[in-house]
Amino acid sequence: TNRKSINEFFSQHLSFPFLQYKEHLHVARGEGQFIYDTNGKRYLDFFAGIVTVGVGHCHPRLIEAATKQMKKYWHLSTYYLQDSVRDYAENLLEHFQDDKHLSVCLFVNSGSEANDLALHLAKEYTKQSEVITLRNSYHGVIQSTLCLTNIAGFKRSYLTGSRVAMTPDPYRGIWGGQYCRDSPIQTTRSCNCQKDHCQASDRYVEQLEQILDYEVPKKKVAGMFIESIQGYGGSVQYPKNYVKKATELVQQNGGLYIADEVQSGFGRTGTHFWGYQGHGAKPDIVVMAKAIANGFPFAAVVTRPEIAKTVGNYFNTYGGNPIGCAVASAVLDVIKEEKLQENSLRVGTHLLEKLAKLRDQLPNVIGDVRGKGLFIGVEMVTDKESRKPYPIEKMNAILNRCRDNGLLLGKGGNFGNVFRIKPPMCITIEDADFALNVLEDAIRKEL
Ligand code: PMP
Repeated sequence: TNRKSINEFFSQHLSFPFLQYKEHLHVARGEGQFIYDTNGKRYLDFFAGIVTVGVGHCHPRLIEAATKQMKKYWHLSTYYLQDSVRDYAENLLEHFQDDKHLSVCLFVNSGSEANDLALHLAKEYTKQSEVITLRNSYHGVIQSTLCLTNIAGFKRSYLTGSRVAMTPDPYRGIWGGQYCRDSPIQTTRSCNCQKDHCQASDRYVEQLEQILDYEVPKKKVAGMFIESIQGYGGSVQYPKNYVKKATELVQQNGGLYIADEVQSGFGRTGTHFWGYQGHGAKPDIVVMAKAIANGFPFAAVVTRPEIAKTVGNYFNTYGGNPIGCAVASAVLDVIKEEKLQENSLRVGTHLLEKLAKLRDQLPNVIGDVRGKGLFIGVEMVTDKESRKPYPIEKMNAILNRCRDNGLLLGKGGNFGNVFRIKPPMCITIEDADFALNVLEDAIRKEL
């Protein structure tokens, strides 16, 4: 009877939840693309546990796979041969048919840990210590990966950072549309036409070259980390050819290209299973987490044998947990059988088209709509001319209104002014239309 209310308990004994809403949401259960609060109210989950619940909440196939393994054994460590680990690695490597040299899997427990291992591998293999990352990137919160994360709020004066290259951000980047004949904006900001003739990304590659020339001893680098689409940073989609040209430059200087697929992997971008494939780039190390096991703590690094060898017999206690492997294998099967990558493209394209129309219809507020598949960002501004970021209070008012009307969205970007739309990949066109109506209504009430 003296038990504290859950709100009171969380505020006194835990460090979360983040106050995104005027009242905390107390969740009871999830099913597919929906979650339900303790009053039985249903919400369409357009943020999927921070881009993690790729195949939907409580998918029966995943429950079955986990239960089956749980009845055999839960944990043995990396000391033994295990069927569920072999089955998963085999299944996962099938997804690297175009990059068969990426043939060794190393299993860990979170995206931060996976990036930490990638960093370790890159330094061991190249025997170099310089690392390049993009401005506004997010690669994790453990100390080593905080050095890779370039979001202002996460910076710490006592951590040695990486060399930070300018993100070729088509909306807020500093180099512009004069480098592309199709750009609607001819003076400032880069282009996002995604066509072959577009030179917009070349200035950014030149800037990277200058970093190598002026900041890195003998131009020798361990590697460059790139999120295939920048996630936390605001769903920033780079102009065509940037990733390919930038990473080839790094590779020419002895460094590795580490593709951070923590958010962009597992079919979310619709056109490809891995985001890097959309750039035509060739990574040396691929880092994955989040959707890999739909929320069961699990993550992986996939790389070339000669790179993996540098850490010898890599082990960590939970790495390759057999239940995680069983769930992760079921995730791959469900994505394939339910054609979730194709669905991401279909429903994502519908959402992008409708959001672009809304951007054009509404005076000011929506500055930019971007993304690929179900990896979407809606950047809010006070006016389209100055691109001044929309105030946080107004962003929160819209988020709260959406929540009241049964829609949960994410928020991000350097100024906290980007709505992030990354639902489970099983959503339907009807769900998308419901979300569009709720969001439009919430934005209009703020005009
Ligand atoms: N990389 C990217 C691109 C991410 O978005 C995240 C998590 N937001 C991470 C790495 C770190 O993953 P985790 O939170 O599992 O440590």
